[in-house]
Amino acid sequence: MRTVLFAGLAALVPVQAGAAAVTAVAPGIDLIPGTFVPGRQPDGNSLVFRAADGLVVFDTGRHREHTQRILDYARDAKLPIKAVINSHWHLDHIGGNPRIRAAYPVVRVYASSAIDGAMGGFLANYRRQLVEAIAQTKEEKTAQSYRDEIAIIDAGRALYPDELIARSGTRRIAGRDFDVHLQARAVTAGDVWVYDPATRTLAAGDLVTLPVPLFDTACPARWKSALADLGRVPFKTLVPGHGAPLQRAQFEVYRRGYGNLLDCAASGRDRNACIDGWLADAKPLLTDADPGFVRTLAGYYVDNALRAPKAKIDALCGADARPSH
Ligand SMILES: [Zn+2]
Repeated sequence: MRTVLFAGLAALVPVQAGAAAVTAVAPGIDLIPGTFVPGRQPDGNSLVFRAADGLVVFDTGRHREHTQRILDYARDAKLPIKAVINSHWHLDHIGGNPRIRAAYPVVRVYASSAIDGAMGGFLANYRRQLVEAIAQTKEEKTAQSYRDEIAIIDAGRALYPDELIARSGTRRIAGRDFDVHLQARAVTAGDVWVYDPATRTLAAGDLVTLPVPLFDTACPARWKSALADLGRVPFKTLVPGHGAPLQRAQFEVYRRGYGNLLDCAASGRDRNACIDGWLADAKPLLTDADPGFVRTLAGYYVDNALRAPKAKIDALCGADARPSH
């Protein structure tokens, strides 16, 4: 099972992704966009909040270049990075933690405890797959990309939180108040999202991802409930884990498409009908996406996540999983 290799896409020749420019999301909040292109593991979006005591970085990316952009941002702003908040433990969101710690040794990292379970399970399994894949590839560039993945996992404790997010509530971080929310067993066992009431900005992490929802470690039904929770927040702008910021109407397009995708996968309909459905529903949000890439990803997740054996889904959803309706 090659779940984390993203539909086997890593077997393609790695390409150099062009990085989009830093953009202002709201006063005092800037987006350092991640990249997600065929043939290369993604970087999640990073958000930088200006707080009273310095900068708070929401997600740190995976590749060196992405994290370097965060460090360059801090250098240009002449402000220290005081805190990191990780939305979840996927490597495209925590991979930059060790580099940020190296540059700012007193930084405090905030996250849920879910990385603990992942290190002994999903990431240990992924590491074994990477070792095998290195032995089999003849492409040096590909082998190096796998070694880079292993290096992130082997950073171990440098990836972990210093401050656990164990419940939802207001949290003062670097002198700024954040509405911090913990969602259990949606994208991962513990997902964190943050709402900034002052600017009505919602940092959703991978609860919202484009060009498709990334189901590798997800409980699809609980994720759907989480989207309903996000829908009740009076946000103006929602920043997804991957993709451009969304306004409320666009989020509702995403949410509807998500629900339809789950319904289609649960029905007896052909996988291509489900893929076509997602492409049609999410069309207004996919203007920059390569349709072939979207089809490949959506098809992979229909087959390997949404239509996975019940035991696999139950394990991701936990014993007390709520029904999907
Ligand atoms: Zn991600």
